[in-house]
Amino acid sequence: MSKAFLEQAIARLAHDEPELQPGHVWLAGAGPGDPGLLTLDVLSALAQADALVHDALVSEKVVAVASQAEKFFVGKRGGRLSIPQGEINALLVRLAREGRKVVRLKGGHPLVFARGGEEALALAAEGIPYRVLSGVTSAFGGLASAGIPATMRGINGAVILATGFAAQSDDRPDWAALARTGQPIVIYMGLTHMADTVAALMQGGLTADTPAAFVENATLPDERVVTATLGTLAEAAVREHVVSPALIVVGHIVSLRDRLRSGA
Ligand code: SAH
Repeated sequence: MSKAFLEQAIARLAHDEPELQPGHVWLAGAGPGDPGLLTLDVLSALAQADALVHDALVSEKVVAVASQAEKFFVGKRGGRLSIPQGEINALLVRLAREGRKVVRLKGGHPLVFARGGEEALALAAEGIPYRVLSGVTSAFGGLASAGIPATMRGINGAVILATGFAAQSDDRPDWAALARTGQPIVIYMGLTHMADTVAALMQGGLTADTPAAFVENATLPDERVVTATLGTLAEAAVREHVVSPALIVVGHIVSLRDRLRSGA
């Protein structure tokens, strides 16, 4: 799409972009990677920010949009914190108190497995004005990009988003209970504990031949989809060298992929 098309479309939309005030923090989601999945509000936030606090999952191209902002990289991957969450919270509070226009940018949606809730709580506790700007969560962006419908009439009436890497036992999904729902499950951060997760899903009654897939680097130029079954997921991950960031999708929605893709 040419730049002129985009400018005209935005003008026609007559969308009043919110203004980022000094001393305010916006918790924003960049989507799974493809810049096309940025929302208009997040794009405008990046253009307005003078301080950008971002994660590893946000692509360089997107970070570069905030050309006039000082960048603070607070990356973490696979659940491993390089900077403790408390320090990130404190950084956001400090930047706001300095009167900066702060954007806290995360991959996907800022309130889906992203600790955005904790940051919002910390800001609220300190009386810092903040706002949440939604992003496309990787499950929905990634499934669509991989040619897998999130819901399909006749197959599923629900879709479960779960974390495979829960730091605290309270957050740990009851996999057997999820399996018993019979609904497809999209697992974030699932690679590290995959063997245990698969075993627990099977204990809950999912059979080894349940269709499954990895969607690696979803929506990015190097996106890769590896299909398997629940029973062969672990060996497929090793054979295909599946790496983070990847989603694991378990359920019959995966089997529609071939038919959907033939229309591509
Ligand atoms: N807030 C993010 C999730 C952060 S947790 C969101 O809404 O998407 C990090 C996990 O998200 C990764 O381990 C991976 O499972 C998933 N993820 C994020 N971006 C991804 C991408 N481009 N491709 C595949 N998985 C992705």
